[in-house]
Amino acid sequence: MGAIQALRGTRDILPEEIGYWQRVEFVARKILNNAAYREIRTPIFEDTALFERGIGEATDVVGKEMYTFNDKATPPRSITLRPEGTAGVVRAFIQNSLYAQGGVQRLWYTGPMFRYENPQAGRQRQFHQIGVEVLGSADSRADAEVIALATDILQTLGLKNLRLSLNSVGNPEDRQRYRQALIDYLTPFKDALDPDSQDRLTRNPLRILDSKVERTQQIATDAPSILDYLSDESRRHFDQVRQLLGDLGIAYELNPRLVRGLDYYTHTAFEIQSDDLGAQATVCGGGRYDGLVAELGGPQTPAVGWAIGMERLIILLQQLQTQATPALDFYLVSRGEHAEAQALILAQKLRGAGFSVELDLSGSAFGKQFKRADRSGAKACLVLGDAEAESQTVQLKWLATGEQSSLPQSDLLEKTEEWRCRLEG
Ligand code: ATP
Ligand code: MG
Repeated sequence: MGAIQALRGTRDILPEEIGYWQRVEFVARKILNNAAYREIRTPIFEDTALFERGIGEATDVVGKEMYTFNDKATPPRSITLRPEGTAGVVRAFIQNSLYAQGGVQRLWYTGPMFRYENPQAGRQRQFHQIGVEVLGSADSRADAEVIALATDILQTLGLKNLRLSLNSVGNPEDRQRYRQALIDYLTPFKDALDPDSQDRLTRNPLRILDSKVERTQQIATDAPSILDYLSDESRRHFDQVRQLLGDLGIAYELNPRLVRGLDYYTHTAFEIQSDDLGAQATVCGGGRYDGLVAELGGPQTPAVGWAIGMERLIILLQQLQTQATPALDFYLVSRGEHAEAQALILAQKLRGAGFSVELDLSGSAFGKQFKRADRSGAKACLVLGDAEAESQTVQLKWLATGEQSSLPQSDLLEKTEEWRCRLEG
């Protein structure tokens, strides 16, 4: 019988790769904390109705991509593994009356999401996002702030060749007028559209604009622009966002075909793409959704947010090869019954003093242990054999220079302050 494999579209994140994930999480946490965003953790599965209402049944996510099943409850109830983070955060905001705290709620989250998609590089069935949601502000500064924070995170991680695309989808009335103009424009091309887009022509025509089918894209090139359908108020909001991004020195390109085809998405829509990602180019997507909280049964609450796709971000970081593997301070080699027992105690003492120590557990010949010490990337190797155990000493060898000394085990911790500079330098 063959060994069981991870399911298609899922993958293990192995220790060799985890440094990237930890760095992303560290940087995001720091930047978001500094901007007064607080972390929220919501369940990974929810009532299916939350996503049907919160994302919309006409979308690919709800229509085709959800992991939906009945659990063991009677009568049967439909449950879905979350395909994205916003709906759960908004449900929690409403259910826990976070709006009653007044003012603006700035929240962030991270965790796995699930979509039944065609797996390929940068596209999985279980993937991870980091996201933010600002609830309770209609101010254009909130739009600019979240965009600035996404940019900050990506830049701090060292990413280059990023492009920010920006659009406004206006308010629902603007979009209704635009929707009709779009249908009028596309209908004569109906037969030339791909089957998905033909289907969307009446159900969700805005989504046709971000079709990935080439012929459909060609047709969409000359479609009317939503920016010509914005009301004065919507235009004012969008102009303010653009002005603020300019003031912040954040470059963007206008893309009137960038849409989020749902009724409660409003005004600003944006994406950050990388030229280094191939087909799955979007690292971050977001926008304003002033209608969603009310749609899910809460008080009318304007909101704006984004989500970064972790896997795509990490593909980019791997290309940069800037992994910060936390360096090991000491590799501890020992052989012989007494030496091995003393080595464990020494390792614990050094760890207690804040050093990182890897203890070789193999009991193999010194030569083999030394080889592993070299490969471990440790700054120094500590050696305990029968002679050292007998005299309660330890050999210290700096691996970069080969410099070696012997010292009493009891002096080890006193020496550590002196070493700290050397280990950190
Ligand atoms: P795409 O058009 O690439 O399918 P999307 O519009 O469905 O993206 P969003 O729902 O806006 O994506 O999610 C935000 C980000 O999450 C995306 O920009 C991407 O980086 C990441 N993402 C979305 N779906 C996946 C997936 N199946 N695998 C890996 N990352 C994903
Ligand atoms: Mg998608």
